Amino acid sequence: MSVVTEVKERTDIVELISEHVSLQKSGRNFKGLCPFHSEKHPSFFVYPEQQTWHCFGACGTGGDAISFVMQMEQVDFGQALHVLAERAGVSLQRAAPQPREVAGEEERLLQINEAVTEYYHHLLLTSRAGEAARHYLADRNISVDTIKAFRLGFSPDRWDAAKDYLLPKGYSEAELLQVGLTTQKEGGNSYDRFRNRLMFPICDIEGRVTGFGARAMDESSAKYINSPQTTVFDKSSSLYAIDKAAPEIRKRNSVIIVEGYMDALALHQIGWRAVVASMGTSMTARQAEVTKKLTKNIVLALDADAAGEQATLRGAEVLAASLDKKPTPIPLWSGLVKYESVLDADIRVIGLPPGEDPDQVVNRDASSWQKLVEQAVPILDFAFGVVADKLDTSSAKDKSLAIEKLLPLLEEIKDPIRHAHYVDKLARLLKLGDSGPVLQALSSKARIDRRRRTTPQRTERSRAARPLVSDPTEEYCLALLLQYPDLREGAGELSVEHFAQSEHRELFNRWKEHQDMAALQSQLDAGLLEHLYYLIGKDFPPAIREGDKARRLDLGDCILRLQEKLCRRLEAEKQTALEVERGRGGTESELSKLDEQGICSGQQLHEIFVRRGSRRWTQ
Ligand SMILES: [Zn+2]
Repeated sequence: MSVVTEVKERTDIVELISEHVSLQKSGRNFKGLCPFHSEKHPSFFVYPEQQTWHCFGACGTGGDAISFVMQMEQVDFGQALHVLAERAGVSLQRAAPQPREVAGEEERLLQINEAVTEYYHHLLLTSRAGEAARHYLADRNISVDTIKAFRLGFSPDRWDAAKDYLLPKGYSEAELLQVGLTTQKEGGNSYDRFRNRLMFPICDIEGRVTGFGARAMDESSAKYINSPQTTVFDKSSSLYAIDKAAPEIRKRNSVIIVEGYMDALALHQIGWRAVVASMGTSMTARQAEVTKKLTKNIVLALDADAAGEQATLRGAEVLAASLDKKPTPIPLWSGLVKYESVLDADIRVIGLPPGEDPDQVVNRDASSWQKLVEQAVPILDFAFGVVADKLDTSSAKDKSLAIEKLLPLLEEIKDPIRHAHYVDKLARLLKLGDSGPVLQALSSKARIDRRRRTTPQRTERSRAARPLVSDPTEEYCLALLLQYPDLREGAGELSVEHFAQSEHRELFNRWKEHQDMAALQSQLDAGLLEHLYYLIGKDFPPAIREGDKARRLDLGDCILRLQEKLCRRLEAEKQTALEVERGRGGTESELSKLDEQGICSGQQLHEIFVRRGSRRWTQ
């Protein structure tokens, strides 16, 4: 869910508007005197089920909670979102910062990082306060050479060490905040973010320090913390040690991705230099983008237990995770398999001994790491293995559970020969005799998925009791346009009126103005930008991903569905307007004039149905 949707979901439009308008119940809805024009009879309606409002009087405007605040407070979309987010207690912070072209500013932030890296590094090597950190590294067998090569550091247990060091060098408090070295409580003074921690400078591929990872040297609440997202640092696209690893990755045409800083250090120290760390989380799509430029052969070191846990995630949860979290983490298994197909990459997995990470393996016996690497298996085989381990092939329930886990993976394999190979493999694993049942399960799953896709209205209606804050057709249509730029010319019929949700109206308008994605992004503030990323991350069925023709047909169908919705909306509005006019004692001629204004007639609706029907026919 994007932050825009979350804010809208947590906002009750009746409550919100009641703060400005005295509302009275009118059937299932509410009405009152329009706050935007002066009137004696109420023509301002609020629809709790749709979470929308509409004025049937002189101003004739309408919209959702955000557009209400925009009009009421005379502010733009971003400011209105801010007002509502605060009211609803939703943080807008998680949105990515705007990409800004401030080369000078970036340069300065990098300089600050460079200066403080040297400072922390010096303290680790020489200060008395850094002794515990030195001991810790020695215990983990990290040599002084490695400490120097990676410029590890120590941040003292003080509130103002970085400040005291950097301010006299001419950097401002604002800059230290901006680069994330200090932090600030609301209205309070700023103070050092990193205190009594072992510091890992995180570099970009050119070796410039963009941010820090930091391990607590005491029983601090958080064992590991990072620099926050800044103009120069984005954790989700950073890979620890990439600067040191890049030449070796190119040379070997392969990269090993581990999770922790210590894992990367331990491996580099024994000469495995084509190694980077994803820093705690599973690999993200943006990290994959970084390695893609160096090699397509990726080896992941995974804890078999943790991997097993991942495999128990239900498909829907994985999907939800991949849509909700920004930036999209590649969900293990189906995500990785899909990624492998899309990038034409080869992803293998090193199965780590349960409960051990690479750092521990290496410290126990460096040669056993070599063995583990040699035993790395293709991601699909590894996934099959994890599921098979938990399986009792004599149990029918286990068999269908295994099918449920592994089918989404099979679906992601694009190459027909590999596909057939793994279908056979699954049939053998489950002792099914032949691959018939697996193929059957695949096709019925595809059927169900297709049905889910093509009938968003049905689920919409069944949830009518809940306020609708997001419209799947609008989202789908915009996601298509954003992800496939060549569809632009097919969108001529589409206008902003087709979108009822204010975030979609806003995005559609900007999209029309800007052909270029980077230009579009630079126009959006944080909330909308996050919603944009959410739409860009939306997944499509294989037919859409691969077929130009299927995409164009789908967009056409989408536009027709939106037209139909618009027609129905206008028709409903007209009916209410007529009622309002009658209640106000309007004359017959006024009423019939209003009736004729109906923009969308039954005839038009009929035409839409015919066009939609014929499209289905030709598909
Ligand atoms: Zn009005």
